[in-house]
Amino acid sequence: MPDPILSISALDAFYGDFQALFGIDLEIEQGEVLAIIGANGAGKTTLLRSISGLTQNAPEMVKYSGEAIGALRADEVATRGIALVPEGRQLFPSLSVEENLIIGGQIGRKGPWSLEAIYKLFPILEERKDQQSTSLSGGQQQMVAIGRALMANPDLILFDEISLGLAPIIIKDIYEALPGIIGSGMSALIVEQDISKALSVSSRFYCLQEGRVSLSGPSATVAREDISRAYFGVE
Ligand code: ATP
Repeated sequence: MPDPILSISALDAFYGDFQALFGIDLEIEQGEVLAIIGANGAGKTTLLRSISGLTQNAPEMVKYSGEAIGALRADEVATRGIALVPEGRQLFPSLSVEENLIIGGQIGRKGPWSLEAIYKLFPILEERKDQQSTSLSGGQQQMVAIGRALMANPDLILFDEISLGLAPIIIKDIYEALPGIIGSGMSALIVEQDISKALSVSSRFYCLQEGRVSLSGPSATVAREDISRAYFGVE
């Protein structure tokens, strides 16, 4: 087995006195697409926040390319090659589409992603490049959020519920773009409430329930009743 690109061990996370994650262990191989599923409040976003430096942890709890990054700030984590597409997109509302994309590239990592490459992936964004990002539809805003993360030329990209609140046809478009995004060896961690979507694009999954890993394994072969039990906690 090659060394994992990301390795999480015994990760706890707290909001004040409230414990949101309990001893999470998780690994992603280079080039792997991993799905994180779980009900509302299971801790999926908190896990992504811990990886991307929005929540600080003990250094050794999160290792990336063999280095302990658990205590780094978000900008330091981004510079090392981890990009987050956050839940709710969080674009800069007063900036244009192109300005939002350019901001993503400002950490200056080299790689295949540029404005041209993003516009090739999502041609509608080139048509709308001078518009304020908030004037776009929800699906187009999601494309900007994905493009902004790609502009950082990450080795690992974290997607937090990219289909939330979008029409099925748009979700289909975005998921059809995923292989083109993830190809060429990038690793991805996809948080998704749509279990079928998550399993169909990933090689392995982890299911969280109340801050703990309740089930993990290969996405292709997991039984539906096992997922239901791990997801909802019903017997
Ligand atoms: P969702 O699908 O609703 O986004 P999630 O699986 O991403 O859910 P988290 O957002 O990680 O779950 O939340 C995990 C737990 O932590 C929940 O019980 C939530 O109420 C709590 N929590 C999240 N953010 C905060 C916060 N800023 N302060 C206090 N508690 C929080």
